[in-house]
Order: sequence, then C-alpha cells, then structure tokens
Amino acid sequence: MSNVDKSTSAFMEKLVSLCKRRGFLFQSSEIYGGINGFWDYGPYGTQLKKAVEKLWWNYMVETRINVEGLDSTVICHPKVWEASGHLAQFGDLMCDCRDCKARHRVDQMADKAVCPNCESTNLTEPREFNLMMKTYVGPVSDEDHAAYLRAETCQPIFIDFHQVRVASRQKLPFGIGQIGKAFRNEINPRNFTFRSREFTQMEMEFFCKDSDAMEWFEYWKNERIKFFRKLGFTEAETRIYEHEKLAHYAKAAIDIEYKFPFGWGEVEGVHHRGTWDMSRHQEFSGEDLTYFDHDNGEKITPTVIETSVGADRTVLALLCKAYDEDVADSKKEGKASEARVVLRFPAEVAPVQVAILPLSKKLTENAQQLFNDIAPYYRSEFDVTGSIGKRYRRQDEIGTPYCVTFDFDSLEDNAVTVRERDSMAQERVDVTQLLAYFDGKMR
Ligand code: ATP
Repeated sequence: MSNVDKSTSAFMEKLVSLCKRRGFLFQSSEIYGGINGFWDYGPYGTQLKKAVEKLWWNYMVETRINVEGLDSTVICHPKVWEASGHLAQFGDLMCDCRDCKARHRVDQMADKAVCPNCESTNLTEPREFNLMMKTYVGPVSDEDHAAYLRAETCQPIFIDFHQVRVASRQKLPFGIGQIGKAFRNEINPRNFTFRSREFTQMEMEFFCKDSDAMEWFEYWKNERIKFFRKLGFTEAETRIYEHEKLAHYAKAAIDIEYKFPFGWGEVEGVHHRGTWDMSRHQEFSGEDLTYFDHDNGEKITPTVIETSVGADRTVLALLCKAYDEDVADSKKEGKASEARVVLRFPAEVAPVQVAILPLSKKLTENAQQLFNDIAPYYRSEFDVTGSIGKRYRRQDEIGTPYCVTFDFDSLEDNAVTVRERDSMAQERVDVTQLLAYFDGKMR
C-alpha cells in the first residue's frame, strides 16, 4: 500500500510534473504554447502505452480462435457517421458563462444554474455541440468534400464485418478487434489525458445471435474485469457502474471505472448494442449485411457485444496507481538512506523491464554485450552515468523492476547482481541463467 495521499490536486501536479521531467507525457506543440486536449508520449510513455496495447492485442485477439484483427482508416465515407447517428446526435449539451467565457458540459455541472469556474449565474441556454472533427478530402474545401475523423474505432469494424468474415472464414459467433486513434472535439479537455481530443481506443465488437447475446455480454464483462486484474488493479480500486438509462436498442451496458485522484472515472465500456449498428449500415448503404445461418437456414442480422477501452485512460490509471514514495535502504545500496520516488508498474508493462548498469566505465564493453543479449527479449536500458545509487534512483523513478549491475567480479565469475525495485533485494545470478531467471517474472 502506498503512503502517498493521492486524493489531492497537489498529487496530480506532482504526477504531471514527473511525467514531463522523465519523458512519459507532455503537452503537444509546447514550443508554440501547447494545444489544449492533445498530448505527446515521450520515450518512456510510448513504451508503456505500447506495452498496454500489446497486452490487450494478445489477450483479446492473438490468443483467441474466435477474434480477428483489423487496422482501418481514420477517415471513412461520411455516410458512416450519418448511419451511426454521430452527425445527428453525437453531441453534448453545453452552456457558456457570459462572465468568464468558460464553456461547460451541462451533464457535468453539479449545479446547473451556476458556472463551476466563477460561480456566476449569467449562463447561456444549453445548446447541442457536435463532437465530430471535420476535415475536407481532396483539393476543394466545400461541403461536398467534407469528411470526419472517426469518433470511435468501432464503426469501421461494422462496415468491414463481411470482408473480415469471408477472408477469415469465421462463423458466428466471432469478434473483430482494433486499436487506433479516435478524435472528439471535447468541450472541456481536462484531468491530464483523461479527457483528450485525440486518444487511442482498443475495441472489440463481438457478433452473435440475439438469443446468445446476454450470455456473451456476461462473458466479455468478466474477461475485461480479468484484464484489469492482470494489470494489478484491485477490487477496491475499480468498480462496475451499471447503466440505468439504456439506448433504445441496447439490452445492457456497464462501465469499468477506476478511482482516479480526481474521482471515479470510466476506463472501459462493455455494451450490448443489439442489431442497431448492422441494421443502420444496411439501411444507409443499401447493401445486404445479413448473415446466413447454415444451422437453421435463416438470414439474421448479427447482435453486437462491444468492449471499448481507452489506452490513454488505462495508462493514466497505471501511472496514478504506480506512483509511490518511500525510503531507500542505506546498507543495501551503500549510502545514506534517502527518500525515493518509485513507480510500481507491473513488470509486464513497465517501460523499461531491465536496466543494465556497468559499475565502472571500464566495464562498458562487457556490459554492453550483456545488454545486446537481453534487449531482444525484454525492454532494456543501458546506463553508465553517475554513481550506482543515483542510477538505481533513476530507474526507480521510471518503474524499472530489475537492475542488473555488471561489476569487476563479473569478469571473473560470469555473474551479475540483480536488484529488485520494490524490495530492493539483491541477488547474484549467473549470466547464463539470466534469461531463465527473468522468464516468468515479467508476466
Ligand atoms: P465519457 O462519458 O467519459 O465521455 P464515453 O462514454 O463517451 O466517455 P465511449 O464512447 O464509451 O466513452 O468510449 C470508450 C472509451 O474510450 C472510454 O471508456 C474511454 O476510455 C475512452 N475515451 C472516450 N472519450 C475519451 C477522451 N475524450 N479522452 C480519452 N479517452 C476517451
């Protein structure tokens, strides 16, 4: 358990500043003053996010016989967004404060009559605001050439359903997964990356018969909860929010929420979408999107169960959870006890899994050989600068679970010292056994 009080805004400030300083995350276009709602992942942030995406892809697509992958375009035919309802409805009710000029989502205002920013009651009437990001395709910027950046990654899955089905020779029930960028012109981006205007979704749409859909809904809900447990999130840190108000076509919907420092927030949605998506695309495209069920010779419109998780919100939850401060033990590391910041990431997603540290610059060449042997298997970093204690601190601060120190004895006994991040315990391991030693510890 962490001793850090994470419920304060000071904590978020500390985290944001660590992320910037250590190259996890920083504002996009900072040299131009930044652009609100857009974030860049630096070297460690990129490694962390890619590790989360890899884990999702492996868990949801690669290890399942009944799920296929897709990598579709960000821009689709504009009719896709008419059919999906996004152009007509995908908006939030918002109002402006006439005094401080702030714009607010009405559903997020605790007191609908008062500006949350300056407490003025001088507010405009609530108005619809469409969240789709618009662009123009081709040389002419007129309405005939208007197109939209996708607001969710699932719509291309629906329109490619038959292409994927035929190519993969899948029969119902089966799913299609996709990881990719989505864009929403959020009125009020905030809470670091939690509400961004450009973000990554990891979605899986599972197509099945209507009669089996509730069973699949329960199955996928449980699989997704298992995924969060795999990432180390405990029952106390997560909760399931059951939607009471459902879309007219939906039979069930839940959100998986994480207790962020700024309150409970949705990280994933699992939705029973009925036949809505496939029927709408059939209606708007004029194509036959039904599925011929060989078992009973019937044509059916597949029912869809969706699992939709934000990669950025998952990374943010991991960062919030991982952050900790404690005191490094003096004796083990040969110096006075000192406070340390440590990110306790699960080893499987840590941006650097193994740091190779030659004790002296004279050992650089030998240690580099060790790095070359380990790096193809584990995300590795090589660091020769500063005292060994300083280098441990640097690795603690980015959450590296294992540091491997190559010292002068290593030249004689072909062994290295492995130091574990959380316990700071050290162990001598034969170099020939190192990969076997890590095997099983990173999963
Ligand atoms: P919210 O109510 O927070 O706006 P939503 O219900 O609109 O979210 P969905 O459309 O269900 O979200 O999207 C699925 C997932 O995509 C969310 O659970 C979240 O992890 C992620 N996501 C949605 N909007 C954003 C955003 N603006 N920034 C970052 N991630 C987002």
